[in-house]
Amino acid sequence: MMNKVINGKVDFEQIKHLLSLQDREEISNLFAIARETRDTHIGNKVYLRGLIEYSNHCSKNCYYCGIRAGNKNAFRYEVNDNEVLEAAKFACENRYGSIVLQSGERSDKKFIAHISELIQKIHDATNNSLRITLSCGEQSEEVYRTWYELGAQRYLLRIEASNPGLYKKLHPDNKNHSYERRLEALKTLINIGYQTGTGVMIGLPFQTLDDLANDLIFIRNCGVVMIGMGPYIEHAETPLFKYRDELLPPEKRVELSLKMIAILRLLRPSINIASTTALQTLDPMGREKGLRAGANVIMPNITPVQYKKNYDLYEGKPCLNDEPSDCGSCIEKRIEMAGCEVAYGDWGDSKAYHRAGI
Ligand code: SF4
Repeated sequence: MMNKVINGKVDFEQIKHLLSLQDREEISNLFAIARETRDTHIGNKVYLRGLIEYSNHCSKNCYYCGIRAGNKNAFRYEVNDNEVLEAAKFACENRYGSIVLQSGERSDKKFIAHISELIQKIHDATNNSLRITLSCGEQSEEVYRTWYELGAQRYLLRIEASNPGLYKKLHPDNKNHSYERRLEALKTLINIGYQTGTGVMIGLPFQTLDDLANDLIFIRNCGVVMIGMGPYIEHAETPLFKYRDELLPPEKRVELSLKMIAILRLLRPSINIASTTALQTLDPMGREKGLRAGANVIMPNITPVQYKKNYDLYEGKPCLNDEPSDCGSCIEKRIEMAGCEVAYGDWGDSKAYHRAGI
């Protein structure tokens, strides 16, 4: 059955079938086919993105997120410019090829101007040698254009759940948390020319296998070229925490996330897929398993260590006391253990982006 599914066009029912596999051998077979697909289309090199968690100030109130504005117990911070530039130089010197500047969502003029300034300063400090990905939420088309023209080449905006009904259960019902605006923002990013990424959470309360199968079809069709998706992890200071007893056990959420990665690799063979920190949070070998299921991107956290514990999206984030220099050699070993090689000094543009000729 599985070979038949994988050799043919993978449709909704077949995706659901693959997501519901329970037999260990069939699951390993799925991961092996996903790995082979990756190796055939884009090779076994893993791209590194140095992640800078620039600020946890956020104007929104997503029900699943530990740094939501409503969490008065979150200690708010902003990494200063020198520290951002030091982190960017570290990425450059260690041949990471690219960085991700991530923050909570703000659309005030001061924040927008500051990100604009940082893009320029990072390029100046690193001789334009790094690709910059922004992950700063929904902004106007004008802001997205400004940042693109200043040299941010990639943008990550996770849809989190492609089913509008489920999205509404995860967010307050107001215009600041509109599903339609989120979709519009994704389309705008793609039209401007960003290498655009999205992603979903896996194992959410209220989520069904139909939702996950539809998430994969959404990702296949929506024109993105990068994906970061991983298991949902609960946080005590969030409204969704009250549903924690209804969640799948952590190992099942990890397994489902790995199946999602593997199936997506079959659907979009040359897309960039991250093996996320959330996987490692629920399973110490989670990121290696993600690579073994067909992922090809790892995001070492290069945020200055004093801030890391406060970018507290979910509970149990690993490596909070590790300096960026500790991460480098650890990640190299982990990537090799997964049978892959580190793509040092490679920007790691998504091959799907070039092929689409955007
Ligand atoms: S998920 Fe993003 S936008 Fe929503 S509260 Fe968290 S940081 Fe803010």
